[in-house]
Amino acid sequence: MEKYSGKSVFGGIAIGRIQMFKKRRQEIKNIKSDNPAFEITRFNNARNIAIAELENLYNKSLKEVGEENAAIFKIHQMMLNDINYTECVENFITKQGVSAEFAIAATRDSFHYMFSEIDNEYIKARSVDVRDVSERLIRILCNAESNGMDSKVPSIIVSDDLAPSETVQLDKDLVLGFVTAHGSSNSHTAILARTMGIPAVISENIPLDGSINGKMAVIDGYNGMVYIDPDKRLVKEMQTIQIKELQRRNLLSKLKGKENITLDGKKVDLYANIGNTKDLSSVIENDADGIGLFRSEFIYLEKNSFPTEEEQFQIYKTVAESLSGKRVVIRTLDIGADKQADYFNLEKEENPALGLRGIRICLTNHEVFKTQLRALYRASVFGQIAIMYPLITSVEEIYEIKRISDEVKKELDKQNIPYNRDIKQGIMIETPASALISDKLAKEVDFFSIGTNDLSQYALAIDRQNSEVERFYNSHHLAVLRMIKMVVDNAHKNGIRAGICGDLGGDLSLTETFIKIGVDELSVLPSMILPLRGKIRKTDTSKIDIEFE
Ligand code: PEP
Ligand code: MG
Repeated sequence: MEKYSGKSVFGGIAIGRIQMFKKRRQEIKNIKSDNPAFEITRFNNARNIAIAELENLYNKSLKEVGEENAAIFKIHQMMLNDINYTECVENFITKQGVSAEFAIAATRDSFHYMFSEIDNEYIKARSVDVRDVSERLIRILCNAESNGMDSKVPSIIVSDDLAPSETVQLDKDLVLGFVTAHGSSNSHTAILARTMGIPAVISENIPLDGSINGKMAVIDGYNGMVYIDPDKRLVKEMQTIQIKELQRRNLLSKLKGKENITLDGKKVDLYANIGNTKDLSSVIENDADGIGLFRSEFIYLEKNSFPTEEEQFQIYKTVAESLSGKRVVIRTLDIGADKQADYFNLEKEENPALGLRGIRICLTNHEVFKTQLRALYRASVFGQIAIMYPLITSVEEIYEIKRISDEVKKELDKQNIPYNRDIKQGIMIETPASALISDKLAKEVDFFSIGTNDLSQYALAIDRQNSEVERFYNSHHLAVLRMIKMVVDNAHKNGIRAGICGDLGGDLSLTETFIKIGVDELSVLPSMILPLRGKIRKTDTSKIDIEFE
């Protein structure tokens, strides 16, 4: 048995024979041409055929993988009409006296190089699209067959890389899983694999020389592993996981696309909590209404020095774009207490949970705060970003945040940098002080999100890190539930929404209580979204009495 480790693109187990994906690269035979007008006509004819093919692909994907993923073929059509692209091909034809296919190949290479050199993940990903679109044109001009697979039995597809159009053209019923040697887990191909629900792994070392073609293999998409010629014990183990997963998914997938609505018509939004961009696939896979808590401090914790504005901007932009217009709540840096990064040079504290943490750090170190705010504002034009501030205890803190945000906005205006002027700003209610003055705070912000992890820690005076006191911790404590109700009531009296993003939000035994209280949204682990949807859809709040006496 051979083992190859890699990056997981989509979880799940696939067991079957390997089929190498054939890239039928076109050999360009006609290089020179002394009839530029004829070559330009050939180029334009090929463009029209390609645009029609892409329209068919768009319609096919629309049915199979939805509008967001089908949009890539509209982008390809736009590329074919892009003046820079078409002019470049025509220039090669007229100035160098070459054939249309040769001019396209030269344009492909120069655009591909140009895009892949730019330090921006989105543009880098476009370099794959430019190659894909150009190869389509060359294939049409050379009258060649399209890429594909020969097998008529369901197989594990192994390839160097797969373009989005190649992925979507595959017959889904014949694909058990994907293994590619290259590609990014954020690429459109990866997104397509996830949307199709097909286990996929990127493994650099997977042999591409044909030696594994036809061999039995197992993809363990959960752990990013590929096994060739697996032994019997492994196959049995994987089959057991596969069956369990299938049963669970069958039950839950019936809930995808359904509303989070109770039997008596109360709607609750279900959002996902994430810590970095790697979690995005599970947000989409679990059909979240958006992201209710992006713990941005993980960006800082994963680094050895302060992340730059540009680094942060790219991350926030990726998250916003991946959610295609759905709401993304990004919480500003909540470092301190249990989350420490050496380069912040924070003093050792007697009571770190009560010390310099959360918003207090940002209000102490304005430069760090402003860098993050600039990145967030800049990214706000790429989706529906909302900003949320942690560990608030007073109205004065909000005034100070507003002053600093105004400075950032002025700087951006001066530099003509666009941002969403209507960006929603909310706060976390995770201290008893903020819960008790939530009537006043509600007048200053657009939304509340209750952080029950810290709210319980501070209300019950129980250190959430200390296992010695865990037995005194009652997550359903009346004090906490009363505070949640108070916060929701005060939010609603002031016309704003209130959600829960602490772990209690995913506690199925409290779902009915939260809906009855009037909680507008729950933001939970991605894997909890569908179980919660199931619970909400079985709830009838008219039959529930809650007592907080
Ligand atoms: C909370 O305190 O409930 C919360 C969501 O924030 P964190 O767990 O990151 O402190
Ligand atoms: Mg907290």
